[in-house]
Amino acid sequence: MSEQISRSQFEQVMVPNYNPAAMVPVRGEGSRVWDQQGREFIDFAGGIAVNSLGHCHPAMVKTLNEQGAKLWHLSNVFTNEPALKLAQTLVNTTFAERVYFANSGAEANEAALKLARRYALDHFGPDKDQILAFNQAFHGRTFFTVTVGGQAAYSDGFGPKPGAVDHIPFNDLAAFEAAISDRTCAVMMEPMQGEGGIIPADPEFIRQVRALCDKHNALLIFDEVQTGVGRTGTLYAYEQFDVVPDILTSAKGLGGGFPVAAMLTSAKIATSLKVGTHGSTYGGNPLACAVAQTVIDVVNTPEVLEGVAHRHRLFREGLEAINAKYKVFAEVRGMGLLIGAALNSDYQGRARDFLVASAEQGLMCLVAGANVVRFAPSLVISEEEIQDGLARFEAAVAQVVQG
Ligand SMILES: *Cc1c(COP(=O)(O)O)cnc(C)c1O
Repeated sequence: MSEQISRSQFEQVMVPNYNPAAMVPVRGEGSRVWDQQGREFIDFAGGIAVNSLGHCHPAMVKTLNEQGAKLWHLSNVFTNEPALKLAQTLVNTTFAERVYFANSGAEANEAALKLARRYALDHFGPDKDQILAFNQAFHGRTFFTVTVGGQAAYSDGFGPKPGAVDHIPFNDLAAFEAAISDRTCAVMMEPMQGEGGIIPADPEFIRQVRALCDKHNALLIFDEVQTGVGRTGTLYAYEQFDVVPDILTSAKGLGGGFPVAAMLTSAKIATSLKVGTHGSTYGGNPLACAVAQTVIDVVNTPEVLEGVAHRHRLFREGLEAINAKYKVFAEVRGMGLLIGAALNSDYQGRARDFLVASAEQGLMCLVAGANVVRFAPSLVISEEEIQDGLARFEAAVAQVVQG
């Protein structure tokens, strides 16, 4: 197939909402990927924080094949063993008492927002409808979630938006205190903003948000689509902030490359999603849930989670060493294996140049906005692959610096 298919066909057959790289990857194994011409890349992108166990992890391939030969899909007219087992695992390992399955982060967030609105209606009446969210936040691309996200550029131009959604600056307690009231139905936030530039919540800010939500009977929704499933070194990032949300959404790394998402909440709040109020054809299908079960079983072990902290240190040391030589970053930040290298004033707006140069050096990485180079590799990437990838990144930095 590779002989007949090429990148140049993209403009002929695809809607132009993406502008993919010139090379077309055809195979992956662990943290290495090969393109149509057999060129090898080290993968520091991880499918944008999705491939938590790299490419074609043997345990995931085994589960996919076994479940694929057994049962793929039933609809929600029936429940199934993998979904019940995965929900039980999520209940056992998190604050949650109830689980709803979907297929993507946006869908899990859509469910969370609809649940919050319905819960407020059930318990406090129709006037409690305000949703508070943060500038630069990202929550997905459905119309509700993109409206709650904090970038007007993504939500403008599609006609009237869902109402009663307000935005405030992230980590700004005074602005938050001024905005929240008894009219607030829910606050949606990422414990660390991902697309917005790898910006962790200030621990004191997040604690005050929790306290003010309690004071005003507003639900606190943590969007852990990017930070969840071991990415930050704990199963979910909220564990490191000592703050428990009312609703949490998980996707990306949960399926490790297979589309699946989950919304977690308490038994009391879940009561508002009565029979018929919400649903999804594919959500909770046996194939997706079986794969996600394997991902969690592998990730939620001390070896893997402590390994994330160790790998974080390797990345940080490596990036700081590169910066000492080339002076391109103002700051290296992030948690676990979600790391941002923020460009200094000499390189503002040029994150994409580093990504393009990295590709030329055989390295896949990411950007988070115009000023941050982002790394989200496999949680089990080998030390040797980290060093090899960092050497390639150094060559890319040298290339950009030398123009
Ligand atoms: C990627 C992302 C989403 C959207 O997930 P999709 O699966 O693309 O719908 C939502 N929230 C956060 C924080 C994300 O990083």
